[in-house]
Amino acid sequence: MLHMADMIKLKIDDVDVEVARGTTVLKAAQKAGVYIPTACFHPDLTPFGGCRLCIVEIEKMRGLPTSCSTPAAEGMVVKTNTPNLQNLRRDYLQLLLTEHPHACLDCERRERCGPNDICLRNVAVTERCVTCPANQHCEFQRLVDYIGVGEMALPYKFRGMPVDDRDPLIVRDYNLCILCGRCVQMCADVRGIGIYSFIKRGIESTVGTAFNRTLKESSCRFCGACVEVCPTGALFDKAAKEHPELSREAVAVPCHYKCPAGINVPLYVYQVAQGKYQDSLATVREKVPFPGALGRVCIHPCEGGCRRGSLNDPISIRVLKRFVADRDTGEWKKYSRKLPATGKKVAVIGAGPAGLTAGYYLAKQGHGVTVFEQFPVAGGMMRVGIPDYRLPPAVLDNEIDIIKEAGVEIKFNTRIDSVDSLFTQGYQAVFLAPGAHRGMKLGVEGEETEGVLDGASFLRRVNLGEKVNAGDKVAVIGGGNVAIDAARVALRLGAKEVSLIYRRTRDEMPASPEEVEAALEEKIELVILAAPLKISRSNGQLSLVCQRMELGEPDASGRRRPVPVKGSEFARDFSTIIGAIGQATDIPAGFQVKTSKSGIIEANADTMATSHAGVWAGGDAVSGPASVIGAIAAGRKAAGAIDKYLGGSGEIDEELTQDRRFTMQCGLVEGFPEFDRVKMPELPVAQRAGNFNEVELGLEETAAVFEGRRCFQCGCRLQITPAPEAPCIARSTDVK
Ligand code: SF4
Ligand code: SF4
Repeated sequence: MLHMADMIKLKIDDVDVEVARGTTVLKAAQKAGVYIPTACFHPDLTPFGGCRLCIVEIEKMRGLPTSCSTPAAEGMVVKTNTPNLQNLRRDYLQLLLTEHPHACLDCERRERCGPNDICLRNVAVTERCVTCPANQHCEFQRLVDYIGVGEMALPYKFRGMPVDDRDPLIVRDYNLCILCGRCVQMCADVRGIGIYSFIKRGIESTVGTAFNRTLKESSCRFCGACVEVCPTGALFDKAAKEHPELSREAVAVPCHYKCPAGINVPLYVYQVAQGKYQDSLATVREKVPFPGALGRVCIHPCEGGCRRGSLNDPISIRVLKRFVADRDTGEWKKYSRKLPATGKKVAVIGAGPAGLTAGYYLAKQGHGVTVFEQFPVAGGMMRVGIPDYRLPPAVLDNEIDIIKEAGVEIKFNTRIDSVDSLFTQGYQAVFLAPGAHRGMKLGVEGEETEGVLDGASFLRRVNLGEKVNAGDKVAVIGGGNVAIDAARVALRLGAKEVSLIYRRTRDEMPASPEEVEAALEEKIELVILAAPLKISRSNGQLSLVCQRMELGEPDASGRRRPVPVKGSEFARDFSTIIGAIGQATDIPAGFQVKTSKSGIIEANADTMATSHAGVWAGGDAVSGPASVIGAIAAGRKAAGAIDKYLGGSGEIDEELTQDRRFTMQCGLVEGFPEFDRVKMPELPVAQRAGNFNEVELGLEETAAVFEGRRCFQCGCRLQITPAPEAPCIARSTDVK
């Protein structure tokens, strides 16, 4: 706590301000709400006054000191914007502009401000300016507008340096550089890496890497902190240029923004790297109640967005989630809140990932939640669709137990066909999450023949403990994850030969590439460019007639359409044929909600509200067969909306860990860009047939920490304080 003696009072442009002793005049002015232009100053860096734009006049002090490096003193009287200062600033700025392209300054649209403080000038600049490639918010341009340039005393001289785009992710165009030195300081002093420096001297001076190495050759961490502080766009993100529609956060930390449930990926990966496994799990649990299940079966869209994927391989984000979930000591519960009972009742139909997630968060908000489940087990597709060798039942049981502990009651073997019956029973809100469990028909002659099954029912029967005999030779038709699961399950049930028949090629298979790879490792035969035509039975065998296909033009899905090859029919014998070409919903009319032609429930994408008041819906019944993480995200949205409907705040977010900051100092790690992604240890293929033991064995601690340390720590970038920006001249001069 500061004492009175530690405080000083001064006057800046006639505004009285009190600040702690040691505060600079610039920071005191910021506190007083007085803007002083700066180019090299950045709040997270040590000021050195190089650009001299922040000069001020101080009564009884000689010269014009730079406010960023002058300490405020008791009784000081400061002027920041006299005509003399304005003229001098313009001169200093002209010096910067002799080598900085300024075609953008002529933009005729720059005076127009958009709604919500979005400055249309920047949009216009990126449209018109041929010299500025950054396509991102330009701090420097706003500064130039504010100070004004006037008639240039010296002509502009193009430096003619090649734009350096040899690296992934970050482009360097030193023609735009104003030598403010922020990137040098950020990289060296704040991050402790130091790959940028001022090179050459005098008028030749520029910023760059030693010996003009690429960032990769310099063992850059690619965190993007340098881009974050560059005021001119001399350093910019390739992603910002390629995807101008993306927000700053989505460009900086795509793994976070690709997670449908919004898990703070950079933070939990960083916490693994720090050995803080319980904090890491708490971070994951802030958004999802199924960390162990997701750590095993999530389709991990985050990894698709991971910036490290542009350098070598993305971080194994999913696997790290499993690593921390497997080490749960329950510490995260310390901060988990449960609000007092509200007396309100919510009915949830379906105990899958969407239903249980919504139920969990609603119970924590104090509502009474009953989940009605048609099967004798909870977990939905995670239980009856995903085989035990990918997701052991004990993992799911533990996570469902925690949901029950939060107050969720599950009624098994209870199919609900009418929402009215629930409202009559006193439920004030209903969440529909019945899933999409009905296997789709192949649509070929003979598919009702004995021995022909659909993938969803086959997996469900096996997962519910039924003894299913698929025989020696099994064909699975389809290319998605259900098809792969059915094929690998058939092998574990004792089939000697399993063939996966798919009408396109491996590249177009919708299944996760690692699942396809695992199936091939297990010697499952992949028959591509073949589609079933007819099934018949004779001599105790099923005969499957297929037709060869070739790829034609892309269809609505963007994949090339399979086109039949005339006269290419061939027949093969099998003991069982499993059609796994998709699943459909089964929505009873009694739900009284609007459905689409394909039978899925129509729901608002933000709130999951349906056409029926008091009824929300989510999961596969709304999206069609999709992902566990998508269903969880829908459950979270619905929980927030239902809570609000019932009179709550709708705020279901919580912070389960206090330790949320990145340590900015990370140091240079030689060879960092080359570090390879760790490999998940697996059960040897020879030990997989005939049992359902888990195939992925989990990472050892050293491997997990190594993988965490491969991360660029992109999240640290969002911790950097934004530089103070010049007020918009359009606003200050009232230009319309
Ligand atoms: S590259 Fe950007 S941050 Fe670095 S010195 Fe140049 S203008 Fe400043
Ligand atoms: S490198 Fe790390 S922080 Fe950056 S996108 Fe990948 S996982 Fe996220």
